[in-house]
Amino acid sequence: MLDFVSCFSDLNGFDDSNPVRWQMVPLDGERLVALLDGSSANIEISGQSFASIIEVYTNNALNKTADQQRWANTAATIANEKGWKNPRFFLLKGHSEGTAKLTAKTSITRELEVSVHSQRNLYVTFHIVQDKGGKRYSSRSESEITSMLAEVNSFFPAQTNIKFTCHFINYIELDRKLGGSVVYKYKNSDPDVTVSGDETKHIFEYVDSGVPINVFFVWDISAKGVGSAPKGTTFDPRDPIGLTYGRCILIEDKVKQNAGLVLGHELTHSLGHKDHHALQGGLMHLFTEPMGKRIYRNEAKTVYANSFK
Ligand SMILES: [Zn+2]
Repeated sequence: MLDFVSCFSDLNGFDDSNPVRWQMVPLDGERLVALLDGSSANIEISGQSFASIIEVYTNNALNKTADQQRWANTAATIANEKGWKNPRFFLLKGHSEGTAKLTAKTSITRELEVSVHSQRNLYVTFHIVQDKGGKRYSSRSESEITSMLAEVNSFFPAQTNIKFTCHFINYIELDRKLGGSVVYKYKNSDPDVTVSGDETKHIFEYVDSGVPINVFFVWDISAKGVGSAPKGTTFDPRDPIGLTYGRCILIEDKVKQNAGLVLGHELTHSLGHKDHHALQGGLMHLFTEPMGKRIYRNEAKTVYANSFK
């Protein structure tokens, strides 16, 4: 059936979960997409000032520039590897921030939205927290933090054109004892209401206001609330492993195996995306088990828009 598909990895900012397919293209960067079952399709293109959309012909009889020949060879290799029958290929080049659209029409219509994102680099300060006297403390090491961030940067920039840089790793001692776990209290799904007895505020006092995002590592988090839990608490809302409050993130020590994914998930919340989905392999899946590296259109658009704020 007539459809646009990603030529490389789905972790290059391609979304096929909506009827309108979507591709992120970095400013001054390129992506290649294929159109399947579209050999006789009429093609319409709009928004070429944002992204040029150029059909790549694999037919060697045509005169081509060196760049066109290179992409033609790449496309021919991909067609062969994937076993696609008569695919058409389109090269997308990002020129300025905005949206272009590629429409293919046969008896049905298929659209590909192309979003051009400039490169964003957001600084993050990490804090390793202990409570007063040091009886309770996070055992998170600096090297773990470095690897978590490296993992996020292995999949986040290619899909959103946003990368994260560690500004500083701080050790902080709170001015009070919080006990066995940091208690997060919520009320009626509203993540922005501070509830009496909420201990997260004693931690968030230590934000580095010089950076857009702060991450605090703590020994344990528990949650108590009225009504349903707010969006933005990862995993089981009664026993969150990580949570985000505005631009502040808490992650507990239990998070080990999928630590980079949990950090990426919470960073996405901190950049304004509060929803979860149930798509296997998605970064914003509610549960860590089917959670993966894939970032979908709405998530990528939201984090990108908020990366300027
Ligand atoms: Zn979440």
